[in-house]
Amino acid sequence: MTAKVIDGVAVAASIRRELKSRVGALLGKGLTPGLAVIVVGSDPASAVYVRNKIRACAEVGIQSFRHDFPADAKPSAVLELIEQLNERKDVHGILVQLPLPPQFAISEILQTISADKDVDGFHLYNVGGLIVGNTVFPPCTPYGVLKLLEHENVALEGKNVVVVGASNIVGKPMALMLMQRDATVCICHAKTRDLAQFTILADILVVAAGKPNLIVPQMVKTGAVVIDVGINRLANGKLVGDVDFAGVREKASLITPVPGGVGPMTVTMLMHNTVASAERMSAAGR
Ligand code: NAD
Repeated sequence: MTAKVIDGVAVAASIRRELKSRVGALLGKGLTPGLAVIVVGSDPASAVYVRNKIRACAEVGIQSFRHDFPADAKPSAVLELIEQLNERKDVHGILVQLPLPPQFAISEILQTISADKDVDGFHLYNVGGLIVGNTVFPPCTPYGVLKLLEHENVALEGKNVVVVGASNIVGKPMALMLMQRDATVCICHAKTRDLAQFTILADILVVAAGKPNLIVPQMVKTGAVVIDVGINRLANGKLVGDVDFAGVREKASLITPVPGGVGPMTVTMLMHNTVASAERMSAAGR
């Protein structure tokens, strides 16, 4: 069996077209959706991610407000800016690019962002919403994975899903979102003993560990759907995921590539969350 390769670039482009028309409707009401992006320091990977986010904003018609701080910035200065942005009517989403330098308590920064503008979905209010299946802002990467599965008409109900990786940003919210859709979910992580005994049972395998070649064909059930969230830069400069793509492709029914799979969806769902926030604020007359 050779898997169909899921084209994340194409799915993202179709969602962005839809968002552009939703932005058009908001513009008609005199409202331009706005996203504030706060960057502290000059981490090279963050610089690429931020550039992509700002470019995506321009593409769908969202106004972006970028705020840069030096790596030695005082947390109080960033907190003060977040509080100002919380009050601004032209800002519907606020994100702080992670990671932050060591003087920052990340949870304090994330909890200061208004839950109404928390487009990354990292505020405890939104995390709590995930537990009860009613979150305002679904975290962008797992939300993007769900959209890919939906686009490919992959049924989730009753399926065995194995999520490899248990981070707050990807693995845990992914597992909760899948459980909410009635999948039977197993979460594996770095301390899991004999990873393969779990992954081999997966009808749908979502991998977000940050380890190149972690998943090889012997670990995958024939016909499984394999979603590779990992992004790893090899010493030769090549970008790869966590899955041995060429090998696993011969065993799976559907597989995402890296790059061009989940990555473009993450940025697109950030745009989605920002537009949805602007629509909610418009409907509430705010
Ligand atoms: P993280 O380092 O916070 O978490 C990694 C998780 O994987 C942890 O729970 C850890 O226990 C687990 N893990 C590590 N090694 C493992 C192993 N050998 N076996 C099983 N589990 C193992 O990372 P993260 O922020 O969740 O990101 C994971 C990967 O996804 C990274 O490569 C990251 O770059 C990528 N990522 C991609 C996108 C995207 O848009 N495509 C978005 C976010 C993260």
